[in-house]
Amino acid sequence: MLSSLTIAQAHQKLTKGEISSTELVQSCIDRIESVDKTLNAVVYRNFDRALEEAKNVDQKGVFDHPLAGIPYLAKDVYSEAGVPTTACSNILREKTYAPAFDSTTTKRLKAVGAISLGKANTDEFTMGVSTETSCYGVTKNPWNTEKVAGGSSGGSAAAVIANECVFALGTDTGGSIRQPASYCSCTGIKVTYGRTSRYGVMSMASSLDTIGTLAKSVEDAAIILEAISGHDPMDATTSPLPVPPYRQQLTKGIKGLKIGLPKEYFVKGMDPEVEQSVRAAAKTFESLGATIKDISLPHTDYGIATYYIICPSEVSSNMARYDGIRYGHTAPKPKDLLDYYLRVRSEGFGPEVKRRIMIGTYALSSGYYDAYYLKAQKVRTLVRQDFENAFRDVDVILTPSAPTPAFTIGAHTDDPVQAYLEDAFTAPASLAGIPGLAIPCGFSKKNLPIGMQLLGPQFGESTLFRAGHAYEQATEWHRKKPIL
Ligand code: GLN
Repeated sequence: MLSSLTIAQAHQKLTKGEISSTELVQSCIDRIESVDKTLNAVVYRNFDRALEEAKNVDQKGVFDHPLAGIPYLAKDVYSEAGVPTTACSNILREKTYAPAFDSTTTKRLKAVGAISLGKANTDEFTMGVSTETSCYGVTKNPWNTEKVAGGSSGGSAAAVIANECVFALGTDTGGSIRQPASYCSCTGIKVTYGRTSRYGVMSMASSLDTIGTLAKSVEDAAIILEAISGHDPMDATTSPLPVPPYRQQLTKGIKGLKIGLPKEYFVKGMDPEVEQSVRAAAKTFESLGATIKDISLPHTDYGIATYYIICPSEVSSNMARYDGIRYGHTAPKPKDLLDYYLRVRSEGFGPEVKRRIMIGTYALSSGYYDAYYLKAQKVRTLVRQDFENAFRDVDVILTPSAPTPAFTIGAHTDDPVQAYLEDAFTAPASLAGIPGLAIPCGFSKKNLPIGMQLLGPQFGESTLFRAGHAYEQATEWHRKKPIL
């Protein structure tokens, strides 16, 4: 099946004329038609336009960029001009909102010839760990359809491992690329805050949101990141730092690389199989020439509490724009303006979004601001300093991506706090704004994927890719595929 190719493999075949972009796009479409009734990873199909774009690329016959003619799916929060984009929320689904402009990321991808197939499922406005808060329903895990694919970029992760696309775009605010990557056995990169542009991507928590990708290999992730990174005049938080040639630097090896194992990430309550797999990965790194060191990140325990004050606070502000006036859900015959707002937002938003708006408004209200939001900001600094101190001694930090393999659909429905705990290993890096690369590192006895994350200092993506690539060359985990 052509859709199972990596970007690097497909590019080679396209350049040699062994396959056409049209064939590649068609193969993804066929795969989506055959498996997505079961998985529910794709929420909008833009197949006619994708085929048209593929035809144009084939006619030109120039494959000067590794992404030319390569089909992908975008999480349903990326704006593409004229393409329905709903954040998997009823507030935008009704009257199907279609943006008038492109996000910087999809625009940059288009400029090098990549082809969008449509939109991938996500938790509503990216709030969640399982895509269960999506108005389109849950995405099922391709390895076991009783399990979640993770979230919020669960549709993107499931689609990549199920070969419904060659790669997919995701977003990571507190773990939404790394956790589904590990639940589905994909490679996922969460970038340094400011490395990629957020312009045109619907915001959840603006000081934490990052734009990244899910792919089939570290090499592919490096290719994509090189194409989408860099300063953007439309997003003042993007960094002017030049984008390194990530792909070229992949093969430099990891002799002498110092890798830290933080004791706070190997704790009671985590799944023993996850711990074993990550410790085995540390051994593999050692055999490749790295040195392993035990380290401590003492404020790790406060990560979740801090994240779940700051994130909802920013959510409460970002969601204010969905008022039913300019686009989205409307309420007929309102009594007055207040009645209109109340009905639009009560009907349009799901329970998780409402919960966060309430927590956030409370935490920001005068009288409580100092006790919650301000305090959380101070603890955020402590979490960041933990990492800064650690990176004086080590180059990279190795941890599990999630405490357990994928959980059963519905397991956390009645207990949102239990769901929040899923982010224990990913949220701290998000608070610190540092990059994290999630890669497959094993399987449980029940054949569920296990993932690890490599964390680096700000703008240290290149080192993460180099370490991840070396690991992938030495192991087979990333090549395993689910039977569907
Ligand atoms: N699971 C986290 C949350 O629900 C992170 C989500 C994300 O990264 N978008 O907020």
